[in-house]
Amino acid sequence: MLRVAVVGSGPSGVYTAQSLLQQSLVPDVRVHVLDRLPTPYGLVRYGVAPDHEKIKSLQNSLRAVLEDERITFVGHVEVGGAEGLSPARLKELYHAVVYCVGAATDRPLGVPGEDLPGSFSATEFVSWYSAHPDTAADGFALRARSAVVVGVGNVAVDVARILARGADELRSTDVPRAALHTLSGSRVRDVHIVGRRGPSQARFTTKELRELGALPRAHLVVDPAELALDPAYAAPAGGPGTPPLPAVVRRNLEVLRGWAADPPPTAADRGRRIRLRFFLRPAELLERGGRVAGVRFARTAPDGSGGVRDTGAYEDIEAQLVLRAVGYRGMPLPGLPFDPAHGTVPHLAGRVLRGGEPAPGEYVAGWIKRGPTGVIGSNRSCAKETVASLIEDAPLLARRSVTADPLSALREWGLRPVEWDGWLSIERAEAALGRSLGRGPVKIPDWAGLLDAARGDSG
Ligand code: NAP
Repeated sequence: MLRVAVVGSGPSGVYTAQSLLQQSLVPDVRVHVLDRLPTPYGLVRYGVAPDHEKIKSLQNSLRAVLEDERITFVGHVEVGGAEGLSPARLKELYHAVVYCVGAATDRPLGVPGEDLPGSFSATEFVSWYSAHPDTAADGFALRARSAVVVGVGNVAVDVARILARGADELRSTDVPRAALHTLSGSRVRDVHIVGRRGPSQARFTTKELRELGALPRAHLVVDPAELALDPAYAAPAGGPGTPPLPAVVRRNLEVLRGWAADPPPTAADRGRRIRLRFFLRPAELLERGGRVAGVRFARTAPDGSGGVRDTGAYEDIEAQLVLRAVGYRGMPLPGLPFDPAHGTVPHLAGRVLRGGEPAPGEYVAGWIKRGPTGVIGSNRSCAKETVASLIEDAPLLARRSVTADPLSALREWGLRPVEWDGWLSIERAEAALGRSLGRGPVKIPDWAGLLDAARGDSG
């Protein structure tokens, strides 16, 4: 029997476990899927926006995988970190370990004022409305009238959409109570989504972009003159010596063109305004009274090779709330090699490289392997490649004898894993909490609440 630990129960971890079961070369495989949290599904639970119910429902297919009898969910077990299990110890328990730990932190913006009160990473905001138990309960007061979201990727679109929605539009979701309460008192009127390059270089996908236009009480504002600064805007189909733009970019430009042609909102329009801005590079966050009061942007222009150059002009945008949505970044896991330039673990087809050489028995998949790119489905092929490497190594790996009962060993080491039954208790407690509030399931936002619920102590 081949015993494999997968560290991380997000999509890349679950797809790795699934690939291990689906391959036929090594029929007898047992997989333990470990997670630091007592809850499974990683970013599907704590990253996908609550109003993206269709993507959230992916949890059902991840659940089906985790309920296979050859897989055991082992929550509340940290690998790495100050108190966590070291990779060396984990290796004692399993023939192979696959790290699917994602990209847990944010890329810094690297401009003065970034850490002013009122300036947050988008991850902090996402974690808050997703009820991640590491989030401070009352971080977001939303007294702001104007918010700036830096970056034009899908995370920027997610956080802008949540800011622009009314709380009543989110009541049917699993948003935690405190976040819903705060969002219902939000005074935000203007949400500026700002890209440092042009619309043809924005990273959002068209479906997500269109959704902004479909919000019931928000007006999209796009300045046609700003779009026209992008040479690709005028000629999306390309021209002599210029290839056509990728389909997703052409579709994005069409959507933006439509919004730019709309009449601007008038003072009588009561909804929130989402302003999509381009060619503005954040230079500095401005401060008043010890808090963020705005963002100073350097006006940029295309440099002819996909980048931008500063023009020397500046524009200040008022903002009492700034969300920095400039991408995620992998974190080093103590005991595993790390490539700081890319925020990933060095690997060859998923095999961890130690000193440039493949380390048999240690693998990576997902964002910690390839960086924070792609959609959830991209993790399937990524996991498959890693599992193919692992299975190729299996004859060598299976020669080493490992314990038949890793869970007992974890308990002996002082850990208190939450298994699948514990997670099902959390689910029941969240359903009961929702019922008591006249809502569907509502997430429990704190460690104590989750662990009590996992042990059946939620009252
Ligand atoms: P992303 O797609 O990499 O976008 C990051 C954005 O930040 C880009 O517009 C980038 O501009 C900008 N940026 C980076 N550094 C900057 C700086 N110093 N100053 C100003 N702007 C800067 O990252 P993401 O939005 O975090 O998304 C991560 C991944 O998750 C993506 O693959 C995304 O599609 C996925 N995701 C998908 C969904 C969905 O499908 N609904 C939802 C959320 C996330 P440049 O291009 O100029 O670098």
